[in-house]
Amino acid sequence: MPDCPCGCFPGLGRRGFLASALAATTFSAAFAAEPADPALLDDVVAANRILYDQGVVDGFGHVSARHDKDPTRYLLSRSMAPALVTAADIMEFDLDSNAIDAPNGVPGGRTPYLERFIHGEIYKVRPDVMAIVHSHSPAVLPFADTDVKLKPMNHIAGFLGDGPPVFEIRTVAGAESDMLVRNNEIGKALAETLGSNSVALMRGHGSVAAAQSVKHVVFRAIYTEVNARTEIQALIVGNPVFLNEKEAAAAMKTNDGLVDRPWALWKQRVMPK
Ligand code: MN
Repeated sequence: MPDCPCGCFPGLGRRGFLASALAATTFSAAFAAEPADPALLDDVVAANRILYDQGVVDGFGHVSARHDKDPTRYLLSRSMAPALVTAADIMEFDLDSNAIDAPNGVPGGRTPYLERFIHGEIYKVRPDVMAIVHSHSPAVLPFADTDVKLKPMNHIAGFLGDGPPVFEIRTVAGAESDMLVRNNEIGKALAETLGSNSVALMRGHGSVAAAQSVKHVVFRAIYTEVNARTEIQALIVGNPVFLNEKEAAAAMKTNDGLVDRPWALWKQRVMPK
């Protein structure tokens, strides 16, 4: 039997090539082509614990990463308190937020987060985004629930730019929703509000942060909360002067190269040695 026509599977023969190709197609319909890098899973686990330790998430909130081998998949814990997440709790989803290992919606008894659609819909429209945090961190809420804009108080929060947009769920889910991003339609509207920004606030709910890596998104989620506390203090003291857009952009560029430093500090507090 001759080798496969294009020469990519020498030795298999034509029939062997077709069988392999078919098997690969069937396999990829259920799982990503290759397992995610264990180092990425470790980062997602560490991120869950760090965000709890730093007061960004509590029993609620979540952090995801885009799959490093398949951009149409993302990794997110099953529904549980973030501080308790282990690698075994991480599930894989397609960008419509269907669990990949869950043909009947219940993967090995694992229940997905109700609001996983936040992640899938942002990954769909933001190819630059590799990680996302959703939280209800408390200092941010005054800026989600009033017309006072959250804006960068210092260089560390330069990623806030001219101030995050605020998502109004009533525009898509009406005035009687339970406030949750519980389907793709609401997730899509949130992603549209986020646009090209790093952060969006969610009226009556919390916020979402997006970035190019797990480390960067943890940095942004933590410093969104820190900046909100500082801004509340500044508003009490007087009339704050914020970074302008050019200062914010320049500061973000510098800080994006420095995220390893706080990550190492945050991680050593929460991960076993
Ligand atoms: Mn939520």
